[in-house]
Amino acid sequence: MGLLPLGQDSQRGKRVRPKEGTMAKIKLEHVYKRYGGKVTAVKDFNLETEDGEFVVFVGPSGCGKTTTLRMIAGLEDITEGKLFIGDRLVNDVPPKDRDIAMVFQNYALYPHMNVYENMAFGLRLRKVAKNEIDRRVKEAARIIKIDHLLQRKPRELSGGQRQRVAMGRAIVREPKVFLFDEPLSNLDAKLRVEMRAEISKLQRRLGVTTVYVTHDQVEAMTLGTRIVVMKDGEVLQVDSPLNLYDFPETKFVAGFIGSPSMNFIKSRVVTEGENVFFTGDGFKVRANSTLAGNLRAYNGKEVWMGIRPEHFGLKGWTSIPEDNNVVKGKIEVVEPLGAETEIHADVIGSMVTAKVDGHAMVLPGDTVDLLVDTSRLHAFDVDSEKAIGHATVMDTTQKAKAKV
Ligand code: ATP
Repeated sequence: MGLLPLGQDSQRGKRVRPKEGTMAKIKLEHVYKRYGGKVTAVKDFNLETEDGEFVVFVGPSGCGKTTTLRMIAGLEDITEGKLFIGDRLVNDVPPKDRDIAMVFQNYALYPHMNVYENMAFGLRLRKVAKNEIDRRVKEAARIIKIDHLLQRKPRELSGGQRQRVAMGRAIVREPKVFLFDEPLSNLDAKLRVEMRAEISKLQRRLGVTTVYVTHDQVEAMTLGTRIVVMKDGEVLQVDSPLNLYDFPETKFVAGFIGSPSMNFIKSRVVTEGENVFFTGDGFKVRANSTLAGNLRAYNGKEVWMGIRPEHFGLKGWTSIPEDNNVVKGKIEVVEPLGAETEIHADVIGSMVTAKVDGHAMVLPGDTVDLLVDTSRLHAFDVDSEKAIGHATVMDTTQKAKAKV
């Protein structure tokens, strides 16, 4: 197969086809990590990536995402289970022979070497020919736009530039897999957004299978083709960003994905003929027919009604029609953001966040009618916290393969 060299067409942003044999699937089968027989950091982790896929591990601090990444890298032993890169079982293969490149949060650049030497160092250790090293370093530098910085030392670079060098060092290896461990967390908010876009573009252009760890769900949503949501060492859900947003399988995932978080209002289910309602002190919200089908079995019981802030509207300032969907709230905080206004309101003792029209005239202390878009509601079991149902129907042709 005639293949384009790495980086060609980078100026125009076209995807550069990876060299033959440079792509790889990663497969984890029932992987566990235990420390000293006591701490189980990772429990029964199962995942199979596609070639060239961008998978993000996300979850709160201590959920086991870094440990899992380090097991893929070979920096931590696997206590139990199997890890494959390509078709090769790599449990006992040392990191340097796994054909991976890792980018760390702290960049891990050598302070006494200039940018060129930092990028070339790993290749020199591998005894790659000098002219090949030179070609790869210059090409990578051009792709990530640091060609003018090659003679500088790390201390002479900004945080964003250092991050680029760390990425450049990974690119020159031409690995089968990129592993990123919170690579943007040391950057300021603006730079983080810029670098996020750069990483996304770069990964698409190079087409190298990538696993990226972050605790930031916005980063996860914007970067991942699939996201693995973890908690307490376990995988809770693996899916595409939009499926996680629309069809969270648990209250935890529902609350973790999406910003601001989904609101949960404890409600009692009341069935009246064909109609099924979420009821509470001063509200009676009708579930649409899709959700009603699953909710009916909970007649008389308490459930969590889940509403995302963007699925509320303020009466008089929304196109959502009023139809058995009013929740009364007492406004405590109003945050005008221009395009929209975030309202924090007390609804029967719970704080609820609503994103409403940016020009809505409301003040703290006002009691307002919030209209719920009932075509976007969710319901969760109070005991198991598992999803009872969602108001939307999944388009199964869109469902990403979550091979768990
Ligand atoms: P963070 O976002 O804070 O880095 P994380 O999701 O990456 O968190 P890990 O670093 O993978 O979490 O840690 C998972 C669990 O394993 C934690 O409870 C942690 O305390 C524990 N752990 C990690 N390394 C060790 C170790 N060397 N010995 C004992 N326990 C450890």
